[in-house]
Amino acid sequence: MKHLTQTCQETLFLSPSDVAAMVRRQGMVPMLQGMTACIEQDFLRWSRFDKSARLASHSPDGVIELMPIADASHYSFKYVNGHPKNTSHGLPTVMAFGVLADVATGMPMLLSELTLATALRTAATSALAARALARPESRVMALIGNGAQSEFQALAFHHLLGIEEIRLYDVDAAATAKLMRNLQANPDSAGLRLRACASSLEAVRDADIVTTVTADKTRADIITAGMLRPGTHLNAVGGDCPGKTEIHPEVLAAAKVFVEYEPQTRVEGDLQQMPSGFAVTELWQVLAGHAAGRGSAEQVTVFDSVGFALEDFSALRYLYAQARLLGLGQRLPLIPRLDDPKDLYQLLKPAFLNSKAPMKQIAPNRESMTT
Ligand code: NAD
Repeated sequence: MKHLTQTCQETLFLSPSDVAAMVRRQGMVPMLQGMTACIEQDFLRWSRFDKSARLASHSPDGVIELMPIADASHYSFKYVNGHPKNTSHGLPTVMAFGVLADVATGMPMLLSELTLATALRTAATSALAARALARPESRVMALIGNGAQSEFQALAFHHLLGIEEIRLYDVDAAATAKLMRNLQANPDSAGLRLRACASSLEAVRDADIVTTVTADKTRADIITAGMLRPGTHLNAVGGDCPGKTEIHPEVLAAAKVFVEYEPQTRVEGDLQQMPSGFAVTELWQVLAGHAAGRGSAEQVTVFDSVGFALEDFSALRYLYAQARLLGLGQRLPLIPRLDDPKDLYQLLKPAFLNSKAPMKQIAPNRESMTT
């Protein structure tokens, strides 16, 4: 990986509109391809990363997670939540932001929105896994769960896998209508046939690939034994937290299961339902040629995706490089610039305060104050 910065003294800030502008200027498909390439490169450097399972803080309706990772030159973390009831309060289920920092100095180089970028990197990771695990002749996909992530999954599988038909299903018919509308209005979906289905069963019938990307904090049985035809690749994205699963254990027991980072997926993935000895393969091993992918054309393969910090590291370094290329984002004065770095106190001296343009004061919000 190229060194991204030399003693950079400012933090670049990317808002959701900056990342949206990047998608518009680059094109969704080149952006998905670019992120997929970055994620693959980083999976192939697996042993060079200092890895850990994410730190999760659970509450009755959701989870807030911190996802750190580092190699010798860069460190990143993502803050992300998962609150399936949020959409009924006008908030997304998944919201995220993250930081990329220089390991040599600790200087934060980039503070970026990651809500939109998470949808892109998750779709890129799903496509990367499916390219390695699905039957190459796969053309029909079922897409169950038609919320915020779904357009990105649909476009990634159309362009990176050659999927020509997608069968859509969601318990909320309005979500399916939204997905249909968005894809039909998007020139990137040209040549993609879409069919709304009345049930998961109808959507998966004869599908080559099944993507489950639902949000519900429960042990859901979206896919049960007997629903999948032999040779299906199951891209299971929505089961990503203790007590939140989509796939019946009998489906996993009969399949070959692939994961991102085993210690994390054992706790968070659909895998949480299986005994601790149940065998799985980490995806990087297949990509690196150290382990076999699918064993036969009849085998059912499952990518039990939960989202791993390495994918966000790849997304952040991709966003940073592209933003600098395209001149996107703002310089954020996050870290003080000091004439004498040992004299932090100078920040409080009138001379320093008077030398800066006055900052707009924000009135304290008394309701949110607890002390
Ligand atoms: P969202 O709330 O915008 O959409 C989820 C959709 O699932 C909703 O439209 C809802 O009606 C539908 N749904 C719920 N239960 C269903 C069921 N039984 N059958 C069919 N549809 C059902 O959420 P989102 O941002 O699209 O995220 C979807 C899921 O993906 C979440 O669970 C999230 O945690 C997960 N996720 C995983 C990763 C990863 O890396 N693995 C990344 C991002 C999001």
